[in-house]
Amino acid sequence: MVSLTVYDGAMGIGGNKLYLEENGNGVFLDFGKNFGKYGVFYEEFLKNRDTRGIHDLIYLDLLPKLNIYRPDLIPSDLPISQYPSLNVAAVLLSHAHMDHCGNIGMLREDIPIVASPESIVIMKGMQDAGVSSLETDNAYFSPRQPTDDKGLYLSSVAGMNYHGRNFCCTEKPSEALTSFLSRKPGQDGKRAKKLDPGQCGCYDNAAFPFEISAHPVDHSIFGATAYILRGETTAAYTGDLRLHGKNGQSTRDFVSRAKDASVLITEGTRAGPSDEEKTSEQSVCETCRESVESSAGLVIADFSPRNFERLESFQEIAQKTGRELVAMAKDVYMLHSLQCISGSCTTEGLRIYDEIMDKSKRKWEQEIVRSLYDDRYVDHKAIRESPENYILCFSFFDMKHLLDIKPEGGTYIYSGCEAFNEEMEIDFHRLWHWLRRFNINPSGFSLDENEALCFDKSYHASGHAPGEDITWVIDQIDPDYIVPIHTEARDWFAKSFENVILVDEGRPYEF
Ligand SMILES: [Zn+2]
Repeated sequence: MVSLTVYDGAMGIGGNKLYLEENGNGVFLDFGKNFGKYGVFYEEFLKNRDTRGIHDLIYLDLLPKLNIYRPDLIPSDLPISQYPSLNVAAVLLSHAHMDHCGNIGMLREDIPIVASPESIVIMKGMQDAGVSSLETDNAYFSPRQPTDDKGLYLSSVAGMNYHGRNFCCTEKPSEALTSFLSRKPGQDGKRAKKLDPGQCGCYDNAAFPFEISAHPVDHSIFGATAYILRGETTAAYTGDLRLHGKNGQSTRDFVSRAKDASVLITEGTRAGPSDEEKTSEQSVCETCRESVESSAGLVIADFSPRNFERLESFQEIAQKTGRELVAMAKDVYMLHSLQCISGSCTTEGLRIYDEIMDKSKRKWEQEIVRSLYDDRYVDHKAIRESPENYILCFSFFDMKHLLDIKPEGGTYIYSGCEAFNEEMEIDFHRLWHWLRRFNINPSGFSLDENEALCFDKSYHASGHAPGEDITWVIDQIDPDYIVPIHTEARDWFAKSFENVILVDEGRPYEF
């Protein structure tokens, strides 16, 4: 008998925290940040206080009330010992999107993370080149301790090294991966903190309460993995997946391996009747290429920086249209790391935008990007002089750099997901004003005369399978029980299939 408790991620999209247990031992399937629930209380200028550890998140029900967290994140006013503790053998991570991995860093240090090499690299790379917070400390963390006499205020311990997390890689870890995990750029500086690496072994050498197999699947980030867990009952977990990307075959392979699963825990982001026109990664590439071909001046391409497949599409477009693709240094840091470790990306032909800023603090850039790719940098002046030679990978948040480049006209290709909340809509209105200021034409989105936002679906292929593909996956696997998660369309599942279990969050179900 296996017991499944969905602590989070059943009632909306993201924040997956599913616990699968047999004979008192279990594993979490993902431990993500629930953006929807965070957004009920928090926004850009009212953020979680890391200095109170997990106190605020527990109090606001953004983290499950369990005794499974790092002791250094428990202030004295949090009654952690009253919460149930679980025998968590590991977290099986499906992929490195924050809604699946963003709360991992708060878990007890002895809980290892099972993940693909790509997911491990992406989490560490984001941390190396990003801003530190509890939600991003997924590969290593700086231990905290109370600095007030009441034990309420927790700050990083001066002089104490970073602690690296333990990983169980879904492939035999390469030397390059082990060495990437063993240091933080800039750590050789006199006063810099060093990184004490955690262990990184192969997942099939580890003892888990289930026989676990990891299967690569197609999604809008590299390294996405589905899992099959065999115990007294066999369960399959899709993570996020699709069939219409360049790696669609890997999803089909997972489906054919999961046919003995009695319980299928499936995502349903786009579940429901599929009435949209089909967009594949290939068709997006063609649409964007046509748009670049018909542009005379500067082209800006806006897509998610972790959507490496889209980046590859733009590398191809740049080559075919005789332009050079210019990425931001932090994205090149990530691509370089992925290229060295998993060979899944290439930095070949990429140029790097030379931002006007004090770069002395960006150790990852000095140590890696500058030292290896110095001749690839291109500055605002060179782009202003021959804008027709470049495709710039900028997003809304990079619009400030246009004030240095000062382009006169051009094309802005929006190749990302549609705005799904009010804040995003406001940002698109701001983006519209930036583009108008420089006479740049948008493609992929527009504002009509009433300033209503409109997206062109042919410019973006979703990372998720549409309803008809989810139906195909379910029909092929033909499980005894279907547990939909990561969806707003639970009713569609209940109406479309037999044996659908619509779980209540926090309640155990036995199979
Ligand atoms: Zn995802």
